[in-house]
Amino acid sequence: MSHVLAAVAWPYANGPRHIGHVSGFGVPSDVFSRFMRMSGHDVLMVSGTDEHGTPIQVQADAEGVTPRELADRYNRVIVEDLHGLGLSYDLFTRTTTRNHYAVVQELFTGLHENGYIIAKTTLGAKSPSTGRTLPDRYIEGTCPICGYTGARGDQCDNCGNQLDPEQLIDPRSKINGETPEFVETEHFFLDLPAFAEALGKWLDTRDDWRPNVLKFSRNLLEDLQPRAITRDLEWGVPIPLDDWRDRNDKRIYVWFDAVIGYLSASIEWARRSGEPDAWRKWWQDSDALGYYFMGKDNIVFHSVIWPGLLLGYSGEGDKGGKPGSLGALNLPTEVVSSEYLTMEGRKFSSSRKVVIYVRDFLERYDADALRYFIAAAGPESNDTDFTWAEFVRRNNDELVAGWGNLVNRCVSMAAKNFGAIPEPGELTDEDRAVLDTARAGFASVGALLGKHRQKAAIGEAMRVVAEANKYLSDQAPWKLKDEASKPRMGTILHVALQVISDCNTLLTPFLPHSAQKVHELLGGTGVHAPMPSIVEVEDLDGGPAYPVLTGDYTVGATWESVPIKTGISLAAPKPVFKKLDPSVIEEELERLGS
Ligand SMILES: [Zn+2]
Repeated sequence: MSHVLAAVAWPYANGPRHIGHVSGFGVPSDVFSRFMRMSGHDVLMVSGTDEHGTPIQVQADAEGVTPRELADRYNRVIVEDLHGLGLSYDLFTRTTTRNHYAVVQELFTGLHENGYIIAKTTLGAKSPSTGRTLPDRYIEGTCPICGYTGARGDQCDNCGNQLDPEQLIDPRSKINGETPEFVETEHFFLDLPAFAEALGKWLDTRDDWRPNVLKFSRNLLEDLQPRAITRDLEWGVPIPLDDWRDRNDKRIYVWFDAVIGYLSASIEWARRSGEPDAWRKWWQDSDALGYYFMGKDNIVFHSVIWPGLLLGYSGEGDKGGKPGSLGALNLPTEVVSSEYLTMEGRKFSSSRKVVIYVRDFLERYDADALRYFIAAAGPESNDTDFTWAEFVRRNNDELVAGWGNLVNRCVSMAAKNFGAIPEPGELTDEDRAVLDTARAGFASVGALLGKHRQKAAIGEAMRVVAEANKYLSDQAPWKLKDEASKPRMGTILHVALQVISDCNTLLTPFLPHSAQKVHELLGGTGVHAPMPSIVEVEDLDGGPAYPVLTGDYTVGATWESVPIKTGISLAAPKPVFKKLDPSVIEEELERLGS
């Protein structure tokens, strides 16, 4: 039994999240964490909203609110969405807590003391009218290489070349159209090349990662450059150095602060648990495991930059040094990255309305219907398309007809004929075979889940469900109604209900809401699949209050076959899943913009 950190990507709080976001990291990390807890591991699943940076500042300006007000609004929306999906965070917090500021500043200080943070003078674009820095992506102009007039300050989408904003011909602000001024400005950089050797040695030990992630990460090491970790901005974590900490125009760059969130959230969780040092078991024990979940656009931060930062803080880069005051910190065990989800063949786009937000989805459909689609057909290792037709088909053919009907038929037949879980008589070979198949599922589904092969894992669980359906139609217990054959009917239903109970456990990490219902239909009481709660908390260090997601996940089912209890009374069941009318496909397609 190990301490397992599930470090989940931090959603950016500039708007509601759509189902593409949660299919990449949210649901897969929850499936993994639930499985690991059921298998007896001590899981710490943490994340929060990422709330600093220019996009939030720019959007707040446009709406005439403060960045904090904007972040407050979307922090709450995102917390409620993740709650609706049943994502079992031990702590889902935010980057505007005082605890987070202190941990970010501690890592900055440790890296600085070890010599891994270097100062450099660069050219920065400023808005002449507001005096504010214009980030690269908010500058547009003509590409100096191909002449494309819509090139951005960071790259030309026409020829694909990387650019610096001062190279653009006729540069202009995307915010208000004015011509930016370029001025010299001093910034701090993380000395990434100083970690190249240590990172290379570490990646050589990571041979069980998904091959695309490993190859991509190794390639990044070929050309590591120092990376800016401060920005000309008012909204963010202050720079913890003399002559800098009181400046209002320089802040720590949002990416640097956000990756440190995994650690600060773990520390916040420990402080809230009443054991302020408890986080160390996940970050410093040599046998602790750390899994990081994200979309593929974030691999670089988790397989190279964050490990570099951890090495530097621990004093393990080329320049040596000693661990900062928190002590040396563990590197990730695995970076679990997913690919992209598209929507009806197109990229998700809020501006073009090619989108469905989590909130809207959950108003019309059940969370487990989406969780099932993501597990069975999500972007685990390939870019994948979400179509409403496929969503409805999988819901109706697989969840409702395959699994829900099996539960419904067996429970209602047992309720009607016995009023309880019937007693089994002597078992036939067929009875024993289907029981063995279900029990074997714990090893086969578990092995796949442990290797982050969730698509194959749910396929394997549904194969067991199909075997159970076949057993039921072969045995046809509904034909055995006369008094003489009723004992055999009882045996078949007993076997079928045991297999259903096992299948329900196998499906619990994927479908926690319906697993709880099936547990209760089988006469079970208490918590089978624990759920997160939204709790309003005070900031631990005197900042404003905020909502967090948290829960007690030490209760619930374990990953094993548990014998059902003969004689437990059963009632006529309500359907576990909702069958969808095919007309919703047309309705949803009409909602999509073109
Ligand atoms: Zn170009």
